[in-house]
Amino acid sequence: MIDKEKFDDWYNEIVETAELCDKRYPIKGMNIWKPYGWKIMQNIDALIRYEMERTGHNEVYFPLLIPESYFKKEEEHIRGFSAEVYWVTHAGKNELEERLLLRPTSETALYSIFSLWIRSHADLPLKTFQIVNTFRYETKMTKAFIRVREIHFFEAHTCHADYEDAERQIKEDLEIAERFFKKLCLPFIVSKRPDWDKFAGAYYSIGIDVLMPSMKTLQVGSIHQYKQNFSKPFEIKYEGKDGKHYYCHQTTYGMSERVLGAIVGIHGDEKGIKLPSSIAPIKVVIIPIIFKGWEEKIMEECRKIKEEIEKLGLSCHIDDRDKTPGNKFYDWELKGVPLRVEIGPKDIENKVISIATRDGIKKKIPVNEIEKLKEELEEYDKRIYAEAEKFLKENIHVLKEVESREGILELPWCGKEECGIKMEEELDMKSLGTPLPEKECNEKCAICKEKATTWLRLAKTY
Ligand code: ZN
Repeated sequence: MIDKEKFDDWYNEIVETAELCDKRYPIKGMNIWKPYGWKIMQNIDALIRYEMERTGHNEVYFPLLIPESYFKKEEEHIRGFSAEVYWVTHAGKNELEERLLLRPTSETALYSIFSLWIRSHADLPLKTFQIVNTFRYETKMTKAFIRVREIHFFEAHTCHADYEDAERQIKEDLEIAERFFKKLCLPFIVSKRPDWDKFAGAYYSIGIDVLMPSMKTLQVGSIHQYKQNFSKPFEIKYEGKDGKHYYCHQTTYGMSERVLGAIVGIHGDEKGIKLPSSIAPIKVVIIPIIFKGWEEKIMEECRKIKEEIEKLGLSCHIDDRDKTPGNKFYDWELKGVPLRVEIGPKDIENKVISIATRDGIKKKIPVNEIEKLKEELEEYDKRIYAEAEKFLKENIHVLKEVESREGILELPWCGKEECGIKMEEELDMKSLGTPLPEKECNEKCAICKEKATTWLRLAKTY
């Protein structure tokens, strides 16, 4: 893992040197996805789609533009987003009669249409998701994948007959998060956001946060219980079995390209990024170690081994560029390929391949036991997960008093907003909220010294 002091410079550089993105486009906060970075993001999206399908969500794709009248239907939502909205006011030479906005998120677009789609209790639950670009006019300093103005965004939206069913959905979302982030080797914490920091229009919000080497937390996912806060202004009603009409209960689950930012940051080292095998565009790279007189024989063996590896379902690439093996090692380590295979004359003679995992384990594997590469990748994933988990656990500090520490702090809290705000001010940190699952607290509030009912988590955040 990268040292805290070096992290920012390292991160800003690695996203370009590892060929994930190009930051030279002349609009601030709008970067270009390079082929390698985009392939990784698509692999991440594929994992999301897999989870969505498994849980009965259907993919939709709504228009980018939202009419102002739709956007204005939910008051808190407008208040929360109005400073970040991009407006379209003209089309060709004409000024538009009604302004349109670029979606900063899609509640108001989807819900106006959900009110047409949902008629009866038989239409529920409605479980949809989309993976689209959203636009937010960020005024803080932008950072590739972490704070951008055009965001590659995943959003699931569901409608339910009652509050209990919506709560079941939130439980399912948390299970999805558990499976999804495990595949990405990213340990995380889940917190119920404090009321003063919930999503605009939500009844309550849950944040999924990871800890970056900079000691700041990064929100990589959020789940919102809307109750009927949107269904009432958007008139999303259904006819119950009793023939009466009821407003739906709604939830959302959102994630974004920040997930890639977290992978880059948390699994990086001096050599480059380390990709979890689940999303690496190339899982195994073969480097021919050419000796004079062996050229043909070695390339032939490389091609044979590549075929064997692909039969295992692992994407594999032979690097036959006119460069030294050392230079090739450097390039693929920078780009985070999980497994490197070297094939030279000695390996052919001994009927083995030499392997090196991206985290530095080297060994020889007999050619006739090539299926062992799968185990090697599994072990590699486990090790990078364990390293990240150790880092997270070591940097969560359960305290009794307000005390300046790095990482994530948990302080006994009476639940009063003024005490929470005071903690934020004294520590110069933001509150992440209360731990989920809930954690018992038998201490006194770190501010007012009255009985604490729960813990408040605080951290420096992105
Ligand atoms: Zn208090």
